[in-house]
Amino acid sequence: MVGPWSTAPVTVADQLLAYLAGGEDRDYIGESVSQLAHALQAADRARRARAAGELVLAALFHDVGHLVAPGAPTMDGFGVVDHESIGADLLARAGCSPAVTEPIREHVRAKRYLCRRKAGYLARLSPASRETLARQGGPMDEAEAATYAARPDLAAILAVRTWDELAKDPGARVPGLDAYRDLLIAHLARSRTC
Ligand code: FE
Repeated sequence: MVGPWSTAPVTVADQLLAYLAGGEDRDYIGESVSQLAHALQAADRARRARAAGELVLAALFHDVGHLVAPGAPTMDGFGVVDHESIGADLLARAGCSPAVTEPIREHVRAKRYLCRRKAGYLARLSPASRETLARQGGPMDEAEAATYAARPDLAAILAVRTWDELAKDPGARVPGLDAYRDLLIAHLARSRTC
């Protein structure tokens, strides 16, 4: 992992995008798309939903934790343990705001929440996602889900989760990383001054 971070938003943005570019030849755990394709498809879903820029960035970087910690423990070949926290912490250190980092930090708990609260959700998960669910604590219990449902940012968290699940199409053609560079630079410049 690189650091300390340069103070120039342009440089930091390019460092962060380089992590995703490194996912071009890394398969997305048990799915038929690369890590980079998965990130780009999730961001494209957010963009087409006319989501706020922070959520587009959250979708783009939601799995970056798989790509930045090469020596980290894995879930028996199903990705890096705690990749959601690794990714969220990386982006927070880089200067991204909580509107970007928290949907990333929460995208695994969102799955556990939806398994409890949304009928048919568990059955529709991909086999790989079901496999990791067991290692991530399984569905929330009802008390945990009730607390989770009261989060003010629940809608944003669930939106990123939904785009994540739709971003596994091997035939999708979507814009590349360059399409998000200006958005990321502007976000970093803004969030570092407030
Ligand atoms: Fe994902």
